[in-house]
Amino acid sequence: QWNRVRSRLQSEVGEVEYRTWLRQMTLGGLDGDEITVRLPTRFLRDWVRTHYGDRLNALWQSENRRVRRVDIRVGGNAGDDGLAEPLVVGEPIGEPIAEPIPSGLAASGQPQAAHADPRAELAAALDPRFTFDSFVVGKPNEFAYACARRVAEKPASVGFNPLFLYGGVGLGKTHLMHAIAWELTGDGPRGSVPVSVAYMSAEKFMYRFIAAIRNQSTMEFKEQLRSVDVLMIDDLQFLIGKDATQEEFFHTFNALVDAGKQIVVSADKSPSDLSGLEERVRTRLGCGMVADLHATTFELRVSILEAKAARAGVPVPPKVLEFLAHKITSNVRELEGALNRLIAHANLFGRTITLESTQEVLHDILKAHDRRVTIEEIQRKVAEHWNIRLTDMSSARRARNVARPRQVAMYLAKQLTSRSLPEIGRKFGNRDHTTVMHAVQRVAELMERDASFAEDVELLRRMLES
Ligand code: ADP
Ligand code: MG
Repeated sequence: QWNRVRSRLQSEVGEVEYRTWLRQMTLGGLDGDEITVRLPTRFLRDWVRTHYGDRLNALWQSENRRVRRVDIRVGGNAGDDGLAEPLVVGEPIGEPIAEPIPSGLAASGQPQAAHADPRAELAAALDPRFTFDSFVVGKPNEFAYACARRVAEKPASVGFNPLFLYGGVGLGKTHLMHAIAWELTGDGPRGSVPVSVAYMSAEKFMYRFIAAIRNQSTMEFKEQLRSVDVLMIDDLQFLIGKDATQEEFFHTFNALVDAGKQIVVSADKSPSDLSGLEERVRTRLGCGMVADLHATTFELRVSILEAKAARAGVPVPPKVLEFLAHKITSNVRELEGALNRLIAHANLFGRTITLESTQEVLHDILKAHDRRVTIEEIQRKVAEHWNIRLTDMSSARRARNVARPRQVAMYLAKQLTSRSLPEIGRKFGNRDHTTVMHAVQRVAELMERDASFAEDVELLRRMLES
C-alpha cells in the first residue's frame, strides 16, 4: 500500500518535485485509523504538510478505507514531538561509543532504539541540504564562512575555539553549523580521522538536561557530553534566564575546552550583547573566534537565488530572481520559501516562470514584504519629478509650480502611508490637517479632469511602491 501511495504521488507531482520534497518520507505505522509518515527535518515536514498533506490523505484513504488521517512528523522515534529525538553523537569510524542518553522525554518511557547507529542519529538531526557546497559566499558572510571552514578542517585550533557565530534570523548560522558537522563526520577528506560530533539547539540541550535530572541520570548526561570531540550548540540565546541550564552548559563548556575539544556556538547577538547571560559565560564565549553574519546584500541574495534555482533544475529568468531579491530582503529563509513556491507551482502546472506569474503566485508574500514608503521618500521623488527643491515641500511658498507638487506629495503620503492627516501636515512645514485634507481632495479632483496629470501621479505612485 505504502509503495502504491508513493508511486501515485510521484506520478502526480512529477519526478523533480518528488525527489526534492518527498523522497525522504518514510512510513511510521498505522495506529487505529491514523497513519504516520515521517520526514527527517522540520522544514521538510512543514513543507510536505502544507503542500502535500491533502493529497497524502486522499491517496491513503483510497488505498485503505480504514485510514482517516495522515499524521506527518519529524524523525524516527515513537511519540516524537521534535524534542524527544535522541542526543545526536556521530562517530564516523567504528570506535565503540557510549549509548545515547536516555532522554526521558520519549512519550511512553519506552527504551529508545538502544543501539541505533550514532552516526545515523547525527545525520537525522542535520539537514542534508546544509553543506558548505550549497552555502553561497558573499561579502556579508565570507568571514563567518571562512571560520567555519577552518574549524571543520582543523577542530580546536588555537584562536578558533570556541567559534561563536552570530547574526539575525535566517542568515545562515544553522546552515554553517550543519556544514561543519557534515564535513567532520561525512565521507570527505576527514573521513579517516574519527571525530565525534554532537549538535543540538540550546533548547534541546535544556530539555535533555531537565530530563536527565528527572531521570537521575545527570552523571551520564555530563559524561556523554564530555566525551565528544566537537560540541555545537545552536541558538544559545535561548539559555538566557535559564540559570541551572546555563550553569551546566558553562561546566560542560569549560571541561571540553580544557580537554582541547572544539565548541561551536551560535546566537542572535554577539557575546557582549547577550545581556542576561552570566558575565563569566559571556567572557569565555568571546575569547575564541567571534564571527558575524551580516545582513545580506542585494548581490548576495541574487547569487543565493541563482544557486537554488540551478540546483532545482528549473529555469527562472534573471529578472524574476532580481525582483525577488529586491522585494524580500530580510531573511534568506523567506527568500528561499518564495522561490520554492514558485518552482513548485511551475512544476505543478507545467508553466514557465515569468514576472507576471511570479507576482500572481507570490501575491500574499509580496504584499507582506511591500516596502514601507516614508513621507521623506515621497517628498524626494515628487520634488525630483517636478524639479523643485526638497525644502519647498515644507516652505511657505504658494506659487503654483511649488504648491501643486506639494499637494501631490501630501496626497501620496495619505495614500501610501498609514500616517494621519495631522502627522502628514507636520512633515510639510507644520501645516494644519485641514490643509492636507484640502490637498488630497484637490489632487483627486484634478486627476479626474486631467488625464496627463493623473498619469504623472500614477507613475509616481508606482515608482514609490516598487
Ligand atoms: P539561521 O540559523 O541564521 O536563522 P539558517 O542557517 O537556518 O539561518 O538559514 C535559513 C535558510 O537560508 C536555510 O535554508 C539556509 O540554507 C539558507 N541560507 C542562508 N544563508 C545562505 C547562503 N549564504 N547560501 C545558501 N543558503 C543560505
Ligand atoms: Mg538557526
